[in-house]
Amino acid sequence: MNRRQAILTGAAMPLATLTPMAARAQTAPPPALSRSLTLGSFRVTALLAGSQASEPVGTFALNAPPEEFAAFAAENFLPADRAMSYYTPVLVEAGSEVILFDTGANPAGLLAALEAAAIDPASITTVVITHMHGDHIGGLSEGGTLTFANANLVTGRVEMEYWLGAGNETFDAKVRPFADAFTLLDGDQEVAPGITAIEAFGHSPGHMAFDLQSEGRRLILTADTANHYAFSLGRPDWEVRFDMDKAAAAATRRRIFGMIADERLPFIGYHMPFPAVGYVARDGDNFRYMPATYQFDL
Ligand SMILES: [Zn+2]
Repeated sequence: MNRRQAILTGAAMPLATLTPMAARAQTAPPPALSRSLTLGSFRVTALLAGSQASEPVGTFALNAPPEEFAAFAAENFLPADRAMSYYTPVLVEAGSEVILFDTGANPAGLLAALEAAAIDPASITTVVITHMHGDHIGGLSEGGTLTFANANLVTGRVEMEYWLGAGNETFDAKVRPFADAFTLLDGDQEVAPGITAIEAFGHSPGHMAFDLQSEGRRLILTADTANHYAFSLGRPDWEVRFDMDKAAAAATRRRIFGMIADERLPFIGYHMPFPAVGYVARDGDNFRYMPATYQFDL
């Protein structure tokens, strides 16, 4: 398969294999989906590395009045008692650089998605960690061995400094042994030409988004600035369990998605519906999400 074309593999899952979502999240192998798009001279590939079922109010709407939550879920054709999260690392091929943003919950899910995209893991030159939550760092290493042995490691300075002192089991297993190898970025610094860090603090102390620009085309990699396409964008002030500073996370959501809406930019978000690329428009004080469809095919 030619990965220079937009590819979508693994989508033809026989219907007979479908089981209720909660059961699938526990038992199904990684879905191994990939999808590529062109951004100027960059090739951007969304890699579906895993998924997780959850209870939506306790995950995405801690402070929502129950009746308001139920009504909003119904308006959006979503169940009020269960939700799915998807994990979408992103690979950016930019000249000679092959840059992976985030790594999923474990190496197996990410490696399956890379295989679906016909991308050799050994070709990855840089791994960028947007923040140090388990669903982003879990695929970085296993048993003290890095998954991408040839890659430079990059993350935000504030983020690394926080987690080094946090006493977090997952960070200590997956990242701490390699902490000295990381290049630490501040806001507005470049990972590579055209790929610039944006401070998006709140979800975690040093969470970073990235601005991708090539040949006049632009895409914002928002990572976990919003965690759910309907709940977190439609109601940006609803508190997300994983937002470590909830007020700062909501303010960051409004700042970054406000900019994305006002400048009419596409974005790719780690937990957005696969292939995780979409747009937002302002909707009163809130935002309305629209998935990208064929905009990148033209
Ligand atoms: Zn996440």
